[in-house]
Amino acid sequence: MNTKYIFVTGGVVSSLGKGIISSSLACLLKARGYRVTIQKFDPYINIDPGTLNPYEHGECYVTVDGHEADLDLGHYERFTDIQTTRANNVTTGRIYQSVIKKEREGVYLGKTVQIIPHITDEIKRHVKALGLKGNFDFVITEIGGTVGDIESLPYLESVRQLRWELGPDALCIHLTYVPYIAAAKELKTKPTQHSVKQLQEVGIQPDVLVLRTEKHIGTDMRRKIALFCNVSPDAVVQSIDVPSIYAVPVAMHEQHLDEIVMKKMNVPTPWGEPHMAPWMDFLKRMEHAKETVTIGLVGKYVELQDAYKSINESLFQAATYKDHRLKLVYIHSEKLTDANVDERLHGMDGIIIAPGFGHRGVDGKFVALKWCREHDVPTFGICLGMQCMVIEYARDVLGLHDANTTEIDERTANNVIDLMEEQKSITEKGGTMRLGAYECKLLPDSLAAKAYGKTTVSERHRHRFEFNENYRERFEAAGMRCVGENPVTHLVEVVEVPGKRWFMGTQYHPEYSSTVLHPHPLFLSFISAAIAYRDERVMQNGPQKTDK
Ligand code: GLN
Repeated sequence: MNTKYIFVTGGVVSSLGKGIISSSLACLLKARGYRVTIQKFDPYINIDPGTLNPYEHGECYVTVDGHEADLDLGHYERFTDIQTTRANNVTTGRIYQSVIKKEREGVYLGKTVQIIPHITDEIKRHVKALGLKGNFDFVITEIGGTVGDIESLPYLESVRQLRWELGPDALCIHLTYVPYIAAAKELKTKPTQHSVKQLQEVGIQPDVLVLRTEKHIGTDMRRKIALFCNVSPDAVVQSIDVPSIYAVPVAMHEQHLDEIVMKKMNVPTPWGEPHMAPWMDFLKRMEHAKETVTIGLVGKYVELQDAYKSINESLFQAATYKDHRLKLVYIHSEKLTDANVDERLHGMDGIIIAPGFGHRGVDGKFVALKWCREHDVPTFGICLGMQCMVIEYARDVLGLHDANTTEIDERTANNVIDLMEEQKSITEKGGTMRLGAYECKLLPDSLAAKAYGKTTVSERHRHRFEFNENYRERFEAAGMRCVGENPVTHLVEVVEVPGKRWFMGTQYHPEYSSTVLHPHPLFLSFISAAIAYRDERVMQNGPQKTDK
């Protein structure tokens, strides 16, 4: 079968969940045995989201090959278990960068370089790049932004051309919003009609409509929308609010979204049924979990929960597999002090010390870490969280009161965390960190090795600073073990304090590789320790109050 190209566009408003719909469809097609990939085209000018403030765009996700990507790629991986790469995320900035580079190299032979055909050709080349490798039956392309934005026009024009060129091998799913007007007690279809009109104005007739809604959309209304929008009535699907994003693939399958797509794209029959049993097991656990595990996340971007998206999802997946509900309490690291730490962290079954950049909020992380260590609460430091773990230990246990990372104090006499050699000469900010997956060897008797069930792992990185090797012996003598290191560079990857309930820091980001069907072993182990700690306290003191 030819590679099929599915385009997902969005209208009316942003944040309708195009990423979730794309991921859900990919999940269903994969569960039917097809080879699927998803890519995201972002209309902004940044070369990649690496330099974007998390407040603007949520977390920066990192692929195994070291690309700083849109957080939707995280959904793609969590829903499909298929690893993405640099090729799965393209921005307008990257498109223009390569067109301008070609222009400078004389590739265009003196022609005037224009949006059509040069930018659109470059977009089309990227759309087809993954498909041309012959590794995929379906390539799902999500077009970022909302139809009607100036920025998305070149992408829509490329989709229009591709649909023309590819015929039945291309299909467009348009996601819109059907608002419920409480005063009129009515769902309104007008925004959808307008949004489809806008799409038609640029020459694209959607094949399938997915309607985001808070209330059930009846058959009559779907028929009306179908009629107004030139879409067959069976291809109007609703995406009603569900308790968890992980229920969306099932909701889409119940309305036959996968079958509609396959039928419209002439996918050879017989199709059979998607193999969703493991996914359903996850949903069942989610539904039946009664007990709650409470985790505190200490970080500075707590106002915007998307800033820690992958950590949230990893914790949720792990808690679900341990048959628990997750209660995640965001603790603002800038507001955490010796005076309020007791009150703020009391009742937590486990604490995550979040990744991050810059000095803002690190003092709160030190306060939290000291409290966690002294109260022996399961604690997981990730990237900057691990670095803070090392610094706090140096200050309080090794007695190096001025210990620091040179990211915060360049002149510290005790640079227990320091810039990597190869980072010292770099002045550019984007894409220059240690990025992507690196191997890590673990000591067999470590907590980490036990959690993974193996001693060689590969995990993704995104950082500039490192544990300073010169201090290793002193840390080990004082009880903090370096249990994981890179086999080539011997850079320290994992630290632990044995004898504690669970006290571990990883220089890498395990959260990027936790998926619904393969929850990450470290998060499973951490959540188990948190549950055990809660049970211990319940045995001693009766039920705990965690109504924060
Ligand atoms: N700021 C730290 C570094 O660059 C940690 C980065 C992170 O937490 N992702 O090394």
